[in-house]
Amino acid sequence: MSHIGSEILQAKSILEAGKAVAIPTETVYGLAANAMDADAVAQIFAIKKRPTFDPLIVHTYSLEALKSFVLEIPEAASLLANAFWPGPLTLLLPKKPIIPDLVTSGLERVAVRIPNHPLTLRLLQSLDFPLAAPSANPFGYISPTTAQHVADQLGEDIEYILDGGAASIGVESTIVGWENGIATVLRVGGLSIDAIEKVIGPVQVQSVSSSNPAAPGMLKSHYAPRIPMRAGNITELIKEFSGKKIAVLSFQQAYPTADINYILSESGNLNQAAQRLFAAMRELDNTDAEIILTEFVPAIGLGLAINDRLKRACAEE
Ligand code: AMP
Ligand code: MG
Repeated sequence: MSHIGSEILQAKSILEAGKAVAIPTETVYGLAANAMDADAVAQIFAIKKRPTFDPLIVHTYSLEALKSFVLEIPEAASLLANAFWPGPLTLLLPKKPIIPDLVTSGLERVAVRIPNHPLTLRLLQSLDFPLAAPSANPFGYISPTTAQHVADQLGEDIEYILDGGAASIGVESTIVGWENGIATVLRVGGLSIDAIEKVIGPVQVQSVSSSNPAAPGMLKSHYAPRIPMRAGNITELIKEFSGKKIAVLSFQQAYPTADINYILSESGNLNQAAQRLFAAMRELDNTDAEIILTEFVPAIGLGLAINDRLKRACAEE
C-alpha cells in the first residue's frame, strides 16, 4: 500500500534507489523515475501497463540542467522556454545518448518540460538526474489530478505519492515540436495556442491518427471512463438514451432531467472547467450510470484541450 505525504526527502530517497514515485504537477499527477536509468524507467511502463511505443516526458528544473541531456535548444524553443517555463508546455528537442531509448521509444527527440509546482521543483533540484514522468494512471484511463486519484488506482504498486494538492491546470501539457522547421503543436493542452503564437508567430496543429508513431500516445481512445460516454447536444442525447440511467457532464448549464449532473463551470470559465474535467469524469465513472452524456465547450483557449480530451474519452478503442 502506498503512502501519501509531502516529504521531499522520502520521495528523493526512493527515486535514488531506482524506484518510482508519484509527483504533483500543475497539469496532472506524474509517475516519476530516474530518466537516466532504463531499469527505473521500465518500472513506469510496467506499473501503468503502458505500451513501450508511447514515449515519456522528461522533467527538469532549469535550462542549464536541460543542456546535460539535449543536444541543442533552437532559437524558437528557447523563446518558448523563457516565456512559459516553468509551465504546461512540453518541447521536443534532439536528445543526447545519455537518455535511454526506452524513454523516447527509440525516437531521436526527447520531450522535455519544467513543471510549475513548488514541491516538484524542489524535488527536481535536489536530485542529480531528471525525472521521466507520464501521467500516474493505468494506460488509457482518466488522468489523475489529486494524490487520492493516484492512490485509488495505483496505490498497490507505488511506495510513495508526493501530495501537492489538486492540480491547478488539470489537463496535460501542450506539446510543441518542429516538423521540417515549422513549429507544430502535437498535443493541445494546458498552454493555449494563442499564447504560443504571441511569442513565436503562427504554428501548425497536427491532427494525429491513432497509429502514427511520430506522435505516439495520441491514441484515438484515451482518458476514457469505463462507462460509455457520448458527446453532442445533451437535450437530444437525453431523449435518445431515455430508459437508461443517465449521467450528464455539462459545461455551464444544468440538466435536471438527467439522473446525475456534473456542471464543469457554472460561470462558463474554461480554465475552471479544465481544472475540474478529469475529477468530474472520475466521479461520474464511479456512479451506477449506464451512459455519460457530454457536450463540447467553446473551442477557444483551454477549450481546445478540453474538447480533445472529451473526444478521446468518447472514442471506441
Ligand atoms: P503523458 O506523459 O502520459 O502525458 O504522455 C506523453 C506524450 O508525449 C506521449 O504520449 C506522446 O504523445 C508525447 N511524446 C513524448 N515523447 C515524445 C517524443 N519523443 N516524440 C513525440 N511525442 C512524444
Ligand atoms: Mg497520460
